[in-house]
Amino acid sequence: MNIGIIGAGQAACTLIAELVRGQFAGKILVFNGESHRPYQRPPLSKTWLHNPTDTESIRLLPEPIETHASIEWIHDKVVSIEPDQGVITTNNARRTVDHIVLATGTRAKTLAIDGLPADQVHVIRTLSDAIHLHEALDAAHNIVIIGAGFLAFELASSLDHPERTIRVLAKGVRALPQISVKAADRLLEETPASIRVGVTIERYDQDSASLITNHGPVPADLVIVAIGARPNTELASACGLGTSEGIPTDALMQTTHPRVSAIGEVSLHTQPHLNKVMRIESISEANDSASTLAKRLLGAPEPFKATPWFWSDQGQLKLQIAGLAARNDDETCLINTQTERVVIRHNSDHVTAIEAVNAAKEFMAARRLFEQGPISRQALLQAGSVFSLLQSSRS
Ligand SMILES: Cc1cc2nc3c(=O)[nH]c(=O)nc-3n(C[C@H](O)[C@H](O)[C@H](O)COP(=O)(O)OP(=O)(O)OC[C@H]3O[C@@H](n4cnc5c(N)ncnc54)[C@H](O)[C@@H]3O)c2cc1C
Repeated sequence: MNIGIIGAGQAACTLIAELVRGQFAGKILVFNGESHRPYQRPPLSKTWLHNPTDTESIRLLPEPIETHASIEWIHDKVVSIEPDQGVITTNNARRTVDHIVLATGTRAKTLAIDGLPADQVHVIRTLSDAIHLHEALDAAHNIVIIGAGFLAFELASSLDHPERTIRVLAKGVRALPQISVKAADRLLEETPASIRVGVTIERYDQDSASLITNHGPVPADLVIVAIGARPNTELASACGLGTSEGIPTDALMQTTHPRVSAIGEVSLHTQPHLNKVMRIESISEANDSASTLAKRLLGAPEPFKATPWFWSDQGQLKLQIAGLAARNDDETCLINTQTERVVIRHNSDHVTAIEAVNAAKEFMAARRLFEQGPISRQALLQAGSVFSLLQSSRS
């Protein structure tokens, strides 16, 4: 069987690596829509911005896999697919395969700001975006980041410099709304950015180099928009396989067409951890969905059953989250020392996520506990730490 993988990001590369290691018998055509070799995205908003010529440390595939004889790289954007015939078309090629894998990820949402040309509004999604941002930094003294999620505060830490003022503008009522107030407070204690919430942007004033907002002018000689991403579903939608929310799949990553699968953060499927259909943007989702598909293509299918996990590095602080909480889930602080903070997110006694700041051992224990089954908040509080509960569950 020959397969065509559209996209060469995290999910695609995990799939490629697992197929090569599993001695997949067919040919693997990979359509890379970008001009760069496959690279990791998480470093782009973190310390990599200090040394953007280093493309080696962010490589996604080791040499023997990238150049494996079963792989053919096609450096072109795919413009359409025909699932019934297995045809994949780019502007330069038309190839036929037995199975199509959509691993097209997401693209950054942007903002049209009256008075500010689109090419001066930065986003950070691709390596080209990160290089473009780095090139603009020398002349930037007043940096404004619009959006107040993980990406915004990672960027604020990475761009911190004595000659720069960094301001984060949030539309909502609080920064880092994805996580508990207690974990967010710990991260925000050390952010170099000043934060304004409840901000609406009206326009950009070129004369004063300021964003005009409902709170008055905000000096801005560099504007970065970090307000989330939207799924690249157009190829799938054109043949009835996608929605604006993502590409629906079953637990084996198969779409409603038997010759098409979808993996990574574009895929929309039941998350067993929450018993809810949703799209998740994280490395864990990219890797776990790709592994699920690899097993199926290698003839040993196993339904997707992973619990999601996330991380965010902000300066010296590392946030790690096991599980996924709804925004209105309750929060209880489990550990609060000078170095560590661990917060339980829960719905009554049912734990939905554990957020660990500079507490890697607790995070790892939380992942193991979620693998074993549901976690009780009461049991966690009695044990005093996630690690202790894990140990007692084993004895
Ligand atoms: C700056 C940044 C920091 C991040 N930090 C973290 C973090 O700390 N922790 C974490 O868990 N996650 C983080 N993420 C998210 C994580 O990188 C993504 O969840 C992950 O990359 C998703 O993998 P994917 O393969 O689904 O999509 P991607 O890695 O985005 O790959 C999709 C690929 O498809 C290609 N493509 C799209 N359309 C076409 C087409 N028509 N033809 C050909 N190719 C096409 C794209 O060019 C891209 O190469 C971060 C993301 C960014 C941008």
